[in-house]
Amino acid sequence: MRDINELRAAIKSAVDAEKEQLIEIGRHIWKNPEPGYREVKTSKYLVEKLKALGLQVKENLALTGFRADIDTGKPGPTLAIMGELDSLIIPTHPEADKETGAIHACGHNSSATAIIGTAIGLLKSGVLNDMSGKIALIATPAEEGIELEYRLGLIREGKIGSIAGKPQLIREGVFDDVDLAYMTHLTSGNFGFNDHNGSIQKIVTFKGKSCHAASPQNGINAQNAVCLAQNAIAFMREKYSNSDKIRIHGIISYCGNSSNVIPDEARMEYMLRAPSIPELVALGKRFDNAVTHASLAAECTCTIDTISGYMPLFDNMKMGQVLKDTVEYLKPGAPFNFNNSFFSSCTDMGDVASIVPGVHGYCPGYSGASHSASMHITDEYSSYVTMSMLNAELCLNLLYGDAATAKEIAADRKGLLSIPEYIKLIDQFDGSITSEYKE
Ligand SMILES: [Zn+2]
Ligand SMILES: [Zn+2]
Repeated sequence: MRDINELRAAIKSAVDAEKEQLIEIGRHIWKNPEPGYREVKTSKYLVEKLKALGLQVKENLALTGFRADIDTGKPGPTLAIMGELDSLIIPTHPEADKETGAIHACGHNSSATAIIGTAIGLLKSGVLNDMSGKIALIATPAEEGIELEYRLGLIREGKIGSIAGKPQLIREGVFDDVDLAYMTHLTSGNFGFNDHNGSIQKIVTFKGKSCHAASPQNGINAQNAVCLAQNAIAFMREKYSNSDKIRIHGIISYCGNSSNVIPDEARMEYMLRAPSIPELVALGKRFDNAVTHASLAAECTCTIDTISGYMPLFDNMKMGQVLKDTVEYLKPGAPFNFNNSFFSSCTDMGDVASIVPGVHGYCPGYSGASHSASMHITDEYSSYVTMSMLNAELCLNLLYGDAATAKEIAADRKGLLSIPEYIKLIDQFDGSITSEYKE
């Protein structure tokens, strides 16, 4: 067996040799953004790249996702390396798609590119002979929790069961044989990894009665219910003075269309975030109470649809240490955030890390604020090439020799759920309640 440092150097130079191609892929996806469960062109483009590398690809997983396996030919754990396909929608971003407003404003185009870069790093370096087990390259759709009404439509049509891509892939059995999982997300900060909040989503529909707005006493104004509900939600924040981890935020998705008509319908979409399942359950109940009582005060009927969003993310610390060592090899002395600050945002990597040991790592590459019009990729080499190297080097470090490191991590299932237990848990969140107003 060759020395691991020789193999590390081989991966680094194999990926670096393809830097022009990787940067071109990253730019192509940046310029052709597609939001969740609509990533048809992105998926096709990447699948062709993998096929050109000689890999077989299983397509149409969770509608637009895919999986390609790289088998070392020796028994051992299956390590999933993921990349995300979907964009956000921020029409005010200067580079947003003119028609759809889509933009990769937190850099999913980089992790999508790194799927190809990881394959290049493993296949073109000749390192597989000195590794054991399998690498499952998985492209995951719909990480961002947006376009809820569209996705709820897909659920009603029976096309999906989860609004986020990774839970849907788990439902479809794509992770059945996976033993441990990793992905890198782009950041404006340092290398590292962090635990994250979990979330649930709420779609609220208020029903009133329309009438001429010059005689409002004849109607029931659904907009009033929105106004009261948003105030009640704002007052809920007082209950969380001891925690800076709870997040409550939403939009009014519909609120009538003519100022001279009392609106008979208004809708809101909300996202509730908390660091644990019991806190999410309690937050959801509190939200439902506030909204249904506000609705009654406005003499409206309201329906609240609850949809599970993301599980809280708890990273595996042993794998986190391997990630730190990998970063130290690639970028000696680079600052590394070893799970020392909690992230209030959510990711469906939390779902994957609920069923297998996993880490959601970060690699620097952009400036400006995430999810905003100011986000721009400022370091293309880091975003596309270094991230690819990081993924491939991590595969080597975990699966080197007889894959002892990966085996040890995979055996640590403390706090993890089986897939049926996980699906049962997330399905418990889904449901609909109606609070009727009777005159
Ligand atoms: Zn994002
Ligand atoms: Zn993201």
